[in-house]
Amino acid sequence: MRICVVSYHSSPLEPAGSGKSGGMNVFISHLYKTLARFCEIDIFVRGDRGHIQLGPGIRVIHINKPNFNEFAECIIDYHTTRHYDLIHTHYWLSGMIGLVTKGVLKIPWVHSLHTFEILKRIKKDQVRIEIENEIIKRCDILISPTQKEAIVIKQMNPSTRVITIPHGVDNKRFKPSADGHSTLLYVGRIDPIKGLDLLVDALRFLKREIRLNIVGGPSKGKENFESIKTYANGLPIHFLGKINYEELNKHYSKASIVIVPSYYESFGLVGLEAMASARPVIGFADTGLSETVGRDAGILVKRSVRNLAHAITHLFNNQGSRYTLGLKGREKALHYEWSYIAQRYFVTYEKIIKS
Ligand code: UDP
Repeated sequence: MRICVVSYHSSPLEPAGSGKSGGMNVFISHLYKTLARFCEIDIFVRGDRGHIQLGPGIRVIHINKPNFNEFAECIIDYHTTRHYDLIHTHYWLSGMIGLVTKGVLKIPWVHSLHTFEILKRIKKDQVRIEIENEIIKRCDILISPTQKEAIVIKQMNPSTRVITIPHGVDNKRFKPSADGHSTLLYVGRIDPIKGLDLLVDALRFLKREIRLNIVGGPSKGKENFESIKTYANGLPIHFLGKINYEELNKHYSKASIVIVPSYYESFGLVGLEAMASARPVIGFADTGLSETVGRDAGILVKRSVRNLAHAITHLFNNQGSRYTLGLKGREKALHYEWSYIAQRYFVTYEKIIKS
């Protein structure tokens, strides 16, 4: 099986945790490196670095064409010699490439939204909403990481084929370790959608000294990073900057609780990494965390600063609960091992190609 993967927005070669590189990059590199044991994978990204081999059977192909049509033309050219069995586009910008290649490539087109503009709570982009709508209508199949997102897609366009496959986690990298620390942890790009302002408000509301480590670099401009730093003034909040993915496990094991305060979170890989590390997760119930963390691997509250603050105090004061929730999180995370998730993708790809 030979798969053409399109990641126009950012490359899996870019380290995650700042700028445009986050969960989708971690997802693409883990999924396709695992799938490359069974398939040949070409990942198309923007840039002028030629071909870079990610491992046996998997390479990143840089195309130096900022124009969507020209980028799509290059993929069509590659197809004439590579004869792909399927094209999988990731994120709406790659979906725009899919709209161009649809009908020309004559192979199934699979799309993953990663973030779904219509579901965002802040700053919706109307043009993007319309383009995502078009992609949903025209792709052959959509793979969504949560049931919640799949339901919305079906409501918007009942004829779209949608399959739900969650993202995965590396349970060997993220492992349980003894608790006994009193630090809270946030991991992620520093982007307004991530809700760090809500977390700062919650800590201020608590009126007690609880240390919070923030891991992640600026995304959508340095001003936002600086403004959240200023907003956090006077609280024991430490900005550690972007941390290499390979080093992150140490930060999870030093934490007692991981907080994901996002306004919108399509899936929330950080929640799953915390679960694999046996750390309870606190976040909002209206995010993708409801399908991973659920009710037994952390506390997901109805959206309010007060509820967030109460959940923090409750777990901070209760090591027994932290232990129970953490243990359950680890148990659940084992079902999300990348090899299982990649197998589901493989079976799905196979079915689509055969039909
Ligand atoms: N991450 C990282 N270094 C950092 C901050 C984050 O490697 O300094 C990784 C984190 O471990 C996770 C990903 O970036 O795998 C963020 O994924 P998530 O789905 O939570 O957020 P997104 O970036 O997709 O909004």
